[in-house]
Amino acid sequence: MTVLPEGFGAASDQGRVRDHNEDGYLVRPPLFAVADGMGGHAAGEVASRLALESLASKTTETWRDGRDVLLRALSEANRVVYRQAKSRAGARGMGTTCVLILLDGDRVHIGHVGDSRAYRLRAGTLEPLTRDHTVVGDMVEQGLLTPQQALADGNRGFLTRALGAAARVDAEVDSFDIQAGDRFLLCSDGLSGMLPDPVIEQIMRETPDAQAAADRLIAAANEAGGEDNVTALVVHPPPGEGGGVAVPGSAGTERRGATRIAVALLAAALV
Ligand code: CA
Repeated sequence: MTVLPEGFGAASDQGRVRDHNEDGYLVRPPLFAVADGMGGHAAGEVASRLALESLASKTTETWRDGRDVLLRALSEANRVVYRQAKSRAGARGMGTTCVLILLDGDRVHIGHVGDSRAYRLRAGTLEPLTRDHTVVGDMVEQGLLTPQQALADGNRGFLTRALGAAARVDAEVDSFDIQAGDRFLLCSDGLSGMLPDPVIEQIMRETPDAQAAADRLIAAANEAGGEDNVTALVVHPPPGEGGGVAVPGSAGTERRGATRIAVALLAAALV
């Protein structure tokens, strides 16, 4: 098991039904990502790994460009997976979802393709920051289904967008402010499909430690049936990343500076 630095927690599990895990995650502050691969044989595993490796190949400098770099990075990851899906034996039709967040000072940029999700817990309330790129997700968007009906819908797994499915991908990127105490969760549908949002919210509220929260979420998804691979990545923006060290003067500045250097030195954990 990879031990992550304080402020980040991640866990991934094959669940109770599948015989291997096609999910993956990437922790490379200021970037964090979750990918959920699909395809026959081991192709899903390959697709999620290729996408995360493509993201991991970027230098920390790259991410300074902020929001626009997420669209370029997702587009590049798409090309890598698509090329392999076309050329590799047994990989036809492989693809992967991807949700990623980039901490950028007092802003967070969130990019996604597919049905892996980003949530924010703010003042004890959980809010989804992404909408699923699925047939059912589109129906919720149009008001034809409630989120509760969507959770029970047998077709909820049909994606309308995925990395590697076509030569070009239509990724979605949004930016949000970060307030002191905000916590972010990235997850695959093995979590959001097994646990209703109020249950995820309750676990996040009761578990202030990032790693403990990720572990509890995985355990709860498995207790609820564990029908799919499940991944949870919890991110607490460090002080200085909008996290609330707003004290002017040298002490505050030094602390922010030290945090940034520490963050830049953290090693990547690619699972
Ligand atoms: Ca899945």
